[in-house]
Amino acid sequence: MPVTVVGSIAYDSVRTPFGARERMLGGAATHFALAASFFDEVRVVGPVGDDFGDDAYAVLRTRGTVTDDVEHVPGGHTFFWAGEYGYDLNSRDTLETRLGVFEAFEPKLSDGSRAADVVFLANIQPELQRTVREQCADARFVALDSMNLWIDVAREALVSAIASVDCVVLNDAELRQLTGKPNLVQAAREVRSWGPHAVVAKQGEYGAALLTDDRFFALPAYPLETVVDPTGAGDTFAGGFVGYVAAHPTEPVTHELLTRAMAYGTALASYNVEEFGTDRVARLRAEEVTARVAELERITHFVDAPIELRA
Ligand code: AMP
Repeated sequence: MPVTVVGSIAYDSVRTPFGARERMLGGAATHFALAASFFDEVRVVGPVGDDFGDDAYAVLRTRGTVTDDVEHVPGGHTFFWAGEYGYDLNSRDTLETRLGVFEAFEPKLSDGSRAADVVFLANIQPELQRTVREQCADARFVALDSMNLWIDVAREALVSAIASVDCVVLNDAELRQLTGKPNLVQAAREVRSWGPHAVVAKQGEYGAALLTDDRFFALPAYPLETVVDPTGAGDTFAGGFVGYVAAHPTEPVTHELLTRAMAYGTALASYNVEEFGTDRVARLRAEEVTARVAELERITHFVDAPIELRA
């Protein structure tokens, strides 16, 4: 069963302390698709302009991703984002956002994309996320990402989009901003009271936490010596996480299944940050993903040897 993703398909200009790139292929839907395509067929929904070239299409189609619902807008410009990171790679400054073809975008899904079993509403205008959610009425699992911009300018629409999904994937700071609750457990409980049964709090280089009902799970990021460009790590994580759910079509989406999905998201995200843009994940091999999942299992396991503590 296909995975449908709606979100930005972009050109990104990125500067980090380790180098800079101009107009490389990026976008939330792109990073998501590169990761999720390890698990199932991905169908990307989003607009591009005349500047979107064959090379970019070829990367987007990695591992069979279907681009029938990538709408080419004649005369338009592809979404453009420019950002800069300092030595703290957990925070970045947006230098420029040009919506381009996204300004007048109205998602119209083909029957194939509507029939998706699993859907990811990547970071875009919440009204568009809502439209896509409505078109995929029969989906078994729908997850949503967003960002501070939409919390600032479209909070009501975002809350309404969140109410229509099963799982929210947000940075921890955004969860706090969205709910006004400084404590992560309280913030996640508030979001769950709107509808979703699962909340994933992304914590950058510190990993990610999963909060469902009253259960909690956390994984550190995969330990790396070299991080070059964190752009797209969140979407790559989401691709692994949501893709893993898609790969288990007959299993109920329990807390336990989502903990395993977290490991795949974490492993994939760790590869994404090793090089600029889509470079590393586009040539990633399945066995490399499996190896890091196994390593994550090893490094997060411990056996207690209880001792008598002093009273
Ligand atoms: P991440 O690092 O996972 O948060 O995602 C980075 C990607 O999000 C980049 O490739 C950008 O093209 C894209 N992006 C940045 N700002 C926006 C925005 N306002 N709307 C949609 N996509 C965006």
